Amino acid sequence: MPSPTQILEDPINSLIKRCPDMRTLRQIHAHFLKSPLGSSSYALSKILAFSALSASGDIAYARRLFAQFPNPNVFSWNSMIRGCSLVPEQSKEPISLYKRMLRSGFAHPNSFTVAFVLKAVISACAKAGALDLGRWVHAFIDRKGIELDLELSTALIDMYAKCGAIEKAREVFDGMDVRDPMAWSSMIVGLAIHGHVKDALELFTAMLDSQVKPNHVTFIGVLSACAHSGLVSDGRRYWSTMQELGVAPLMEHYGCMVDLLCRAGRLEEAYTFVNDMPIVPNSVIWRTLLVGCKNSRTFDEAETAAEQLLQLEPLNAENYVLLSNLYASRCQWDKVRQMRKKMKDHGVKVVPGGSSTEIDGFVHEFTVADDTHPEIKEIREMLRDIAERVRRAGHEPWTSAVLHDVVEVEKQSALCEHSERLAIAYGMLKTEAPVVIRVVKNLRVCGDCHEVTKIISQIYDREIIVRDRVRFHRFVNGTCSCSDFW
Ligand code: ZN
Ligand code: ZN
Repeated sequence: MPSPTQILEDPINSLIKRCPDMRTLRQIHAHFLKSPLGSSSYALSKILAFSALSASGDIAYARRLFAQFPNPNVFSWNSMIRGCSLVPEQSKEPISLYKRMLRSGFAHPNSFTVAFVLKAVISACAKAGALDLGRWVHAFIDRKGIELDLELSTALIDMYAKCGAIEKAREVFDGMDVRDPMAWSSMIVGLAIHGHVKDALELFTAMLDSQVKPNHVTFIGVLSACAHSGLVSDGRRYWSTMQELGVAPLMEHYGCMVDLLCRAGRLEEAYTFVNDMPIVPNSVIWRTLLVGCKNSRTFDEAETAAEQLLQLEPLNAENYVLLSNLYASRCQWDKVRQMRKKMKDHGVKVVPGGSSTEIDGFVHEFTVADDTHPEIKEIREMLRDIAERVRRAGHEPWTSAVLHDVVEVEKQSALCEHSERLAIAYGMLKTEAPVVIRVVKNLRVCGDCHEVTKIISQIYDREIIVRDRVRFHRFVNGTCSCSDFW
């Protein structure tokens, strides 16, 4: 005979399932706590699942609830890990939860649930750029004989590509028996962001040959690959193919085309293209145009783009910095000062620059002029050594990049303490060539850091991969895969 609690389980489930919002859920929860069901782990895990996973949930509530669980069951671990992996900008929490879950004895997962958890953890690794842990999860899957299904394989491809290990992504892709449009697209996008243009386009042809229909994501990969190497006519051709195949262009595709034209130095065409767009251009489009103008020193279009941008996003510090740098590059210091004033008047929130690098499975984070790292003394010594050798190589700091300080920190700070430099220096301290130094940064890399990293890659003979907010930079032998356009 089922116990009284078991009899109640189904009604609890359907009650919570039908819950319209968090307010109601909180009321239900309060009710449970007063009833004999208060300690039913079944009810609590359902409440947790709703707060962590439902669209109208509240992850903070889920965290508080989870903290009170003496022995969470696999279902609750699953809800928490998946819920946390859905929080944008949050990459470390699912990983540390997963480690805790394994430590507390859930080390033999073979169920359906586990595939879900693993996917969530892999995508968290992708976000954090935590390659070592991602590799470890992959090895774990192999060791446990967990079947690498389509979704899990695609998650691995995405993770390896985003962590800068494109060869590993390709290995997983090549090992797949069946590939759906998402698997093809992830691989094509991965190759494109790494600047492997030829491979990306060849893979696209192979995709068409295998009768798999490309989707929106595929074309983002294809068009950005063309943009990367200035293949304007190919880009236009793929643009038509896309429409022939009935894939309607979205904002991202327009963005790729603007990027393509800007990189090829066709500013006027880019500008006309934006004006002719059938949808209202968003800030990404204007920013791409502004960056394009900055690189080719076309001024009028730049100012128009900037005006639109500041109107659409008056609170985004990055826009002011882009524009300030543009003025600075033309020595228009009055306008630079105006920009600073505008930022102040609008109360623009400064986003602190932060970079991280993973050493032996542990992610080390740095902010600008950070002195909180336990090995900061050694890092500073390394930075001095780098500064000296970079100077001897003939590099002079870019004055315009000093404006970057506005974003990175309000007080004056030397360029050589930008967060990515601290992370690179730490990577150089802790690893030896040929180990690749991998850094993830939350903002765009500034011009001076970009130049210095190129020089470091040459004089120290180290490969350095930086993933910034916009793209990947792979520094080898004094050059960068982005061809100095970002
Ligand atoms: Zn910098
Ligand atoms: Zn670059």
